[in-house]
Amino acid sequence: MLDYQAILEEIHESLKKVENTGKVAAYIPELANVPKDKFGIHLHLITGENYSVGDASEKLSIQSISKVLSLAKAFQLVGNDLLERVDVEPSGHPFNHLSLLELEDGIPRNPLINSGAIVVADILLSHLKNPKEDFLNFVRELAHDETISYSEKVTESERLTGFNNYAAANLLKAYGNLHNDVEDVLDFYFHQCSIMMDCRQLTNAFFVFANKGKCLKNVQHLTSSQVKRINAIMLTCGFYDEAGEFAFEVGLPGKSGVGGGIVALLPHCFTIATWAPALNPKGNSYLGMQALEQFTTKTKLSIF
Ligand code: GLU
Repeated sequence: MLDYQAILEEIHESLKKVENTGKVAAYIPELANVPKDKFGIHLHLITGENYSVGDASEKLSIQSISKVLSLAKAFQLVGNDLLERVDVEPSGHPFNHLSLLELEDGIPRNPLINSGAIVVADILLSHLKNPKEDFLNFVRELAHDETISYSEKVTESERLTGFNNYAAANLLKAYGNLHNDVEDVLDFYFHQCSIMMDCRQLTNAFFVFANKGKCLKNVQHLTSSQVKRINAIMLTCGFYDEAGEFAFEVGLPGKSGVGGGIVALLPHCFTIATWAPALNPKGNSYLGMQALEQFTTKTKLSIF
């Protein structure tokens, strides 16, 4: 049996010494206030054991990691009808790219880029009675944790500087691929991105994707076929224009966010989350990417 705690400590120790050339996301002013030197890793095995190192129990803004959770909820609500409104092709573009290539006849290339996630948010708005409350409850249920909540400060910060997202939402509206008001959809989207979770809670919430659709408490939330699809989308689209690099170096489905968090998983084996707020030029956590590369190299545990 591998000594997972020793492996996490070794990775943490070695990367703390590395000169961190990453930069904290500053385009959302609230995120620019997060100290650059935070660094935590949490590992959750499917058999129930947990291992932690560093700042793994401090809350971070999950940002785009929420896109996987909203996608899961939308799949649960509308099944494959979702695919009529959003495609599943990697884009090879940064997360906030606005080119029409991202919108083929108003259809975003995938649900993990901003325009795709905005369409998913629109679907949730159309199908949930109390969208913000119901979505938060879904995340809480998956993570089995009532303490998870939105950060109104981060939401507000994004609203004030979210010009790209307003542009994307307006373009989608012009194409007829947003059924609700732009303001309402973006209010939901900014809230989902503002959810605060720590690394342990992230591994708990993502357990469902490693466990054939059953959450920590063994409740079936998604079919195994939906989980297969969501994992495929994470693998091909989860890291902006660095998804190929992540598959090449790490070899796990996963998703990053501009808050510096990354969650990744090996189906039937484990979920792992890292947090280090400084981002590399592609918008992925500078240390998180390296930590996960070291983890799958040292343990020889990857999908490949
Ligand atoms: N809320 C962020 C935005 O829309 C999410 C970006 C990200 O984490 O990729 O700009």
